Amino acid sequence: EQQASYPHALVLPFPAQGHIIPALQLANKLLSQGIRTTFICAQHRINLIPTTLRFTGRVVALPDKVDLEKEKVDAGVQSLCRSADTVEDMRDSFQQLLNSDQFSDSRIFLISDFLLPWTADIAIKINIPRYVFFPSSATALSVSMYLPSLMAQIHIPLRSSDLHQCSTFIHVPGLPKLLAPSDLPSAFREDCPAESRNTCVKSCLLLREASAIVVNSFSELERPCFRALQNDQRLNSNQTKIYSVGPLLQLDYINCPEFNSEEREHHPVEEPSYTKWLDTQSSASVLYISFGSIAQLSVHQIHEIAHGLEKSTHPFLWVIRQPENCSESTAAYSLLPDGFQIRTKGRGFITFTWAPQLLILSHPSTGGFFTHCGWNSILESICRGIPVLALPQFGEQDLNCRVVVDELQIGVEVEKGEDGVAGREEIERAVRLVMGEKGAELRKKASEWMDAARMASVGSSAANFKSLCNKITSYAYT
Ligand code: UDP
Repeated sequence: EQQASYPHALVLPFPAQGHIIPALQLANKLLSQGIRTTFICAQHRINLIPTTLRFTGRVVALPDKVDLEKEKVDAGVQSLCRSADTVEDMRDSFQQLLNSDQFSDSRIFLISDFLLPWTADIAIKINIPRYVFFPSSATALSVSMYLPSLMAQIHIPLRSSDLHQCSTFIHVPGLPKLLAPSDLPSAFREDCPAESRNTCVKSCLLLREASAIVVNSFSELERPCFRALQNDQRLNSNQTKIYSVGPLLQLDYINCPEFNSEEREHHPVEEPSYTKWLDTQSSASVLYISFGSIAQLSVHQIHEIAHGLEKSTHPFLWVIRQPENCSESTAAYSLLPDGFQIRTKGRGFITFTWAPQLLILSHPSTGGFFTHCGWNSILESICRGIPVLALPQFGEQDLNCRVVVDELQIGVEVEKGEDGVAGREEIERAVRLVMGEKGAELRKKASEWMDAARMASVGSSAANFKSLCNKITSYAYT
């Protein structure tokens, strides 16, 4: 009987890198407070759990229903959408896990990724709390929670003609500026597969039902947004409390500002060439370019970036993911314009494999980050005081771009043409701005936010995490 009152968190991330990393970090924090925590991940994504996070709790792999190796779900956005089905498959495996009676010695509750709406049905069925983990910005959370009010303002799914409507603006409480239709998450667009859109819409509508929402942001970073979310009675009729506990980062980078040899040792960097090359560059001179773990740029966009970089004359370290439609035999380097590497020799470092992003952002030679605005990338940039060139690709990245450029003022948006591609002149302009004339101003702002992040990690976010843990513990005894 005594044992049965132990709270036991079952943490379920959406099976993608940008969700797994912060969820595991949250799981680590729960463990550190003595809360029993099991991390439950789809089998085909288990390899995405970074060993550097040193999670000491139990990890359970949910068996996959289909042979995902054959289906190649690991590739780009298209595949991620396809894997929306495989995400549904997780439901059955998870239900079986619960039926197996392995958790009967404790009072289980769910900490489920926002994008796993089926966990809500399960929580209701077995009468346990479901906490939602929202791994993105509070701005994206607001848009998700206010979806019904959005739908009253604009037709969803958004047609492509709506995206170019310059006269339509959308009001979301707590957001300092009105939004354009093109700022809204890509799942709301007509060209997103209906199944993925339905999952996303369902996930948004279920937010208000959650026992609590845990966000990977901090209150100082998006203050008006958090205030509106917390005070709006319409949202809080269920008394869903929102806990901002971020930034949840891959390593304890928040409080160790300098890149040091100890960190290098802890990080299994297979290619020390990165750091060796960065070591040869001057302070804050290198532009780091990466579009995260999912987005795959078209060959056209890769070429425009290459030409823009070449013309900018600034040093760069570029992580390129192969476009999905490139055949395996396509040599990675053939994606680049002819002679590009010879012409940029010495000032450009290119890799086609996974790169240790936090290490790169922590190196003193790194001075700018050309990013797709994945929320983890944004938080990592903030925690290293690095200014940003923003070229959002999908998901809620356009919203994150607004946060970075309009609210935090640590970056410059790279404007796309009508074909959705950012041209070489625009890229050259943005690189020169961030790495040159506007760099000092942006870096100053970024370092102010870095200080704010550090303060939050021992201040507001630490306090919120503590009250989250209190809520969890009191649940166990009620
Ligand atoms: N990341 C990395 N190396 C890479 C690509 C990505 O370490 O080559 C990490 C990055 O540091 C971040 C996460 O993977 O923690 C990507 O999450 P984000 O939200 O930025 O983008 P997503 O991949 O979800 O689009």
